[in-house]
Amino acid sequence: MQNINEIEDLIRLISKLPGLGPKSAKRIVLKLINNRDELIKPMANTLAQVYKNVTRCKSCGSLRSNLKGCANCENTKEKFSKICVVEDIADQWTIENSNLFQGYFHILGGTISSAGQRKEDLLINSLVERVNKDKIEEVILATSATVEGQTTAYYIQDSLKNSKVKITKLAQGLPIGGEIESLDDGTLFSAFKNRTKLNSSSD
Ligand SMILES: [Zn+2]
Repeated sequence: MQNINEIEDLIRLISKLPGLGPKSAKRIVLKLINNRDELIKPMANTLAQVYKNVTRCKSCGSLRSNLKGCANCENTKEKFSKICVVEDIADQWTIENSNLFQGYFHILGGTISSAGQRKEDLLINSLVERVNKDKIEEVILATSATVEGQTTAYYIQDSLKNSKVKITKLAQGLPIGGEIESLDDGTLFSAFKNRTKLNSSSD
């Protein structure tokens, strides 16, 4: 290896990305260096734009553009009556891609018992606010079939007990320990279709 600090820094950063180790990071860096104008320049600009303009929405937890506002909870073309609650943005993307669900998303940002995660860090209060403000009729809990996911679902159910909203949970078709992100469309479809009602406050 040549001793060029910039290159070493880049390799070190890229090897922190999911699924990439030092070996693939080196290959990526070489590819970048060999395509300065086609890759490095636009990528540097895009990264700067993403850093500047894209943040997590404080209300729904999804990604928002500071230029356009939040496409999930502010600037939606339609008004929906359902909110699907998930742990991570990756889960939102999986469910969106499956076209199974028409409604708003609410991204908690983790689960209650996940390492170092405190209840206050999860967007649970803002979920309750959204449910009341947007006159939501159904909250679908799509947390993972893990102990943490189910504990979180239970806590949310409890937090919503004063709202007159119907609360449902994805069906047990979810494999135990299954994370939403990694489900295939068929499993996700039956989990949505056969979702079970958790409370009796409306409907
Ligand atoms: Zn939002």
